[in-house]
Amino acid sequence: MLIRDRLAHKRPVFSFEFLPPQTEKGEAVLWRSLENLAMLQPDFVSVTYGAGGSTRTRTLEIVGRIKRDLGIEPMAHLTCVGASRDELRRTLDGLLSRGIRNVLALRGDPPRGETSFVQAADGLRYASELIALIHEHDRGFCVGAACYPEVHPEAPSPDVDLKNLQTKVDAGADFLITQLFFDNAVFHDFVRRARAIGIEVPILPGIMPVTNVAQIERFTKICGASIPDRLRGRLGEIADDPQEVFWAGVSWAAHQCRALLEPSSQSPFVRPERGVAGIHFYTLNKSPASRAIFEILRLARSAIG
Ligand code: FAD
Repeated sequence: MLIRDRLAHKRPVFSFEFLPPQTEKGEAVLWRSLENLAMLQPDFVSVTYGAGGSTRTRTLEIVGRIKRDLGIEPMAHLTCVGASRDELRRTLDGLLSRGIRNVLALRGDPPRGETSFVQAADGLRYASELIALIHEHDRGFCVGAACYPEVHPEAPSPDVDLKNLQTKVDAGADFLITQLFFDNAVFHDFVRRARAIGIEVPILPGIMPVTNVAQIERFTKICGASIPDRLRGRLGEIADDPQEVFWAGVSWAAHQCRALLEPSSQSPFVRPERGVAGIHFYTLNKSPASRAIFEILRLARSAIG
């Protein structure tokens, strides 16, 4: 199943993102979470791509096993970091040989310990170039790309960032997934600006339930997402009580999702009659928060089928 076909026929779609684990214990947690979330019948699950060699092979192995053993459609993330064009082509061959044709094309973050992206020898500089390479020879890939409601940290301005996003769409991105955000107004404004310059592809909001205060402070600092004062204040009050943080995070994310999915969603640019195209959950390999949000949405009889 190609994600673009699913998006054309079903709204909303739901997806979960996982990371290749680095330890045996992490491996067990990943598969337990995948099995738990598979019960919710997501439209697809995605697996991130690391900067180091071994985690890259892991991405391929994991998406292959998801497809084979769980019967869920996987999407492999792929980045330009440290790879020549030929190496990227070989990775794409590896995906095809596992029956995987959904790819999230990214420039990638610099490897741990490095501060800026360095183009590999005979490699690529931008995600748009990777999208073009994936579409070489028309091998039937469906390609997603990343977008940034609060602007990519390296972009000189929101308008330049949006223009660069348009380049990715023009290169053949079939859909977009946003960086995490906690304020739906930020998302709606971004979608309005994207539609205004002619970006028409589906934009899936990326939602991360807060489950750990220090972790979310770290992530948001790196990716440039803001934490609304109301959420920050609440997290400040309960930071050393993991149960309270869990429920505050779930509750915030569930409200976000419900408002995004509601047909009367505030923005006319997210197809008001249908709400958003779907939700992509950043799970960090843990299932309870995403499961709880799903149940809340189900009980609220929101747009889940
Ligand atoms: P690009 O689209 O190439 O943009 C990078 C920067 O260059 C931006 O500032 C952009 O405005 C600018 N730019 C783009 N094109 C041009 C141009 N032609 N001329 C001048 N400037 C330009 N990272 C990983 O390492 N592995 C993952 O698996 C991963 N998964 C992710 C999933 C999602 C949903 C998201 C939102 C991010 C993910 N990331 C991942 C992080 C991502 O790699 C970083 O945010 C990275 O810094 C940018 O990647 P990009 O694909 O958006 O890059």
